[in-house]
Amino acid sequence: IRILELEKSLKDAVDEIHLMSITDPLTGIYNRGYINQRLPQEINRSIRYHRELSLVMCDIDHFKTVNDTYGHMSGDIVLKGFVKSLTGSIRQQVDWAGRYGGEEFLVVLPETGLEGAMVLAERIRKTVETTPIQTSGDAIQITASFGVTGFSAADWKHAMSPELILQMVDSLLYEAKDEGRNRIKSRPLLFADQ
Ligand code: GH3
Ligand code: MG
Ligand code: MG
Repeated sequence: IRILELEKSLKDAVDEIHLMSITDPLTGIYNRGYINQRLPQEINRSIRYHRELSLVMCDIDHFKTVNDTYGHMSGDIVLKGFVKSLTGSIRQQVDWAGRYGGEEFLVVLPETGLEGAMVLAERIRKTVETTPIQTSGDAIQITASFGVTGFSAADWKHAMSPELILQMVDSLLYEAKDEGRNRIKSRPLLFADQ
């Protein structure tokens, strides 16, 4: 019995260490390492089974100003609040999100085409825009910008590298910033011969 108990607590410890290794400690969502590991699998699976797949990359607008105005601790609270709006907007069982960089987040939407991904991005954008985040002092109002790309099932003709897809969604996010922020830019991911 002693050994069984020991085995159980060892397994629990291993599980906890594993969870910590794939989680961002501040926001509780997946970290960059997990994204790097899971995204290629997700893409390969979509290609193999001819399924739709979409990606949303989002970045908080003028976040540096939030830190500069309210302090880094309030900035951290804002990050947590933003992630709450984000995860509250996605399908818990199918979609998943991770912290890609400081205040930049990736949402992966299996079985979802560009149209559906746009609807979701708009839902997140609207929620963020209309949900002030309460810190110990002020309630802070933020906005975010979004890049969205996706494939219809018929588009899968070749393998497509995660790097290329991320590059695409990142440049769309950059366009959204460039055009004034608090908006969404989207484009279907097309292949070279299309
Ligand atoms: P833009 O609208 O173009 O995205 O402007 P921005 O100010 O959001 O972008 P910029 O890249 O200039 O600044 C990002 C800031 O995010 C700078 C960095 O200090 C802050 N940041 C990154 N990670 C964290 C964090 O974990 N906590 C806090 N409080 N701030 C963070
Ligand atoms: Mg930003
Ligand atoms: Mg950024």
